[in-house]
Amino acid sequence: MRNKGVSEEELFSFLIARKQEDKDHQHILSSMCTLPHPVAIRAHSLFMETNLGDPGLFPGTASLEQLLIRRLGTLFHHPGACGYATTGGTESNIQALRIAKATSDISSPNVVIPESAHFSFKKACDMTGLEMRGVPLDNNFRADPDLFLEAIDSNTCCMVGIAGTTEYGMVDPIRDLAALARDHGIFFHVDAAFGGMVLPFLDGAPEFDFAIPGVQSIAVDPHKMGMSTIPAGCLLLRNEKDLCSLSVDTPYLTVKQEFTLSGTRPGGSVAGALAVLEYLGYEGMAAVVRGCMGNTRRLIEGMESFGIPRVVTPDVNVATFKAVTIPDPWQVSFTRNGHLRIICMPHVHAGMIEAFLQDIGEHYAETVDSFS
Ligand SMILES: *Cc1c(COP(=O)(O)O)cnc(C)c1O
Repeated sequence: MRNKGVSEEELFSFLIARKQEDKDHQHILSSMCTLPHPVAIRAHSLFMETNLGDPGLFPGTASLEQLLIRRLGTLFHHPGACGYATTGGTESNIQALRIAKATSDISSPNVVIPESAHFSFKKACDMTGLEMRGVPLDNNFRADPDLFLEAIDSNTCCMVGIAGTTEYGMVDPIRDLAALARDHGIFFHVDAAFGGMVLPFLDGAPEFDFAIPGVQSIAVDPHKMGMSTIPAGCLLLRNEKDLCSLSVDTPYLTVKQEFTLSGTRPGGSVAGALAVLEYLGYEGMAAVVRGCMGNTRRLIEGMESFGIPRVVTPDVNVATFKAVTIPDPWQVSFTRNGHLRIICMPHVHAGMIEAFLQDIGEHYAETVDSFS
């Protein structure tokens, strides 16, 4: 490092210049994260120095984490759910698999997941030593319970269903998967990292939560559709004893045991996550989600009017299309299957969709026939 420090002025002109190299949200259509809500930023800055890894020093902040878990548990039809704030879906999924392994007595256990599962399950299996069994999807990119039945065996300690897949925005048939898991005494985890902050606010949305018997744990990410600052994920458990299966002794802290994966944990983004829920309330969240879903439908209709067909009609605000090249400076992404993927996050407002469609229209004006 430098022998002598730089002046604050020089430092910040350096930092600001680097920040200007980042992509501008005005053109980001590829991300499941979004601009944090202003109340999240304000709450985060108020709790900047707090450490949830030592909750006895920060009991006020710790009570906000518990309130966040209670709010989400209630939203997911189980006010008594327990859990904690993670760094995101990856940590939540790793912890769910650790719990499934810790609470089973199978000697060479496996986990059965849909092929649409997020790559965090690869990391989780690597860390837990669980054998990962991927199950092919149905024609609508949803998990197929019949194929799950074929894939499980007496060594299966965990099954996973996805509520809002990362690539196609689909919700697996959670009730059927949960029933299958229950019949076979298998721990069932729902990865609602994305959909958990969308589906509860949508009329007629597919069911996915603790209202379904057999759902043992749910991952949900406030730093995606919850408009919190990063990092803010949550892992919720139906039964406290499952979470406690991960407890380790913590000799020199204000608490005697912890079940989290991280040690030092930010209070700021937890306060941010809670702040958005408190400030917007159910009605405010529902309005944001309705806006995102409306924009998703408009995008699909607009793309199809140019002869660029959707791959599937999504359950949440993730739109996928036959692959086409996209003009600069728009930032889009492509799925493993090579489909164009656009996520209509809260920062992707109606005007941005229209501007994007106009650019696409000009890009493809002459070639409509070749895309139909
Ligand atoms: C985003 C996502 C994850 C990973 O979450 P991170 O916060 O990036 O760790 C896991 N599962 C699903 C379904 C996701 O959409």
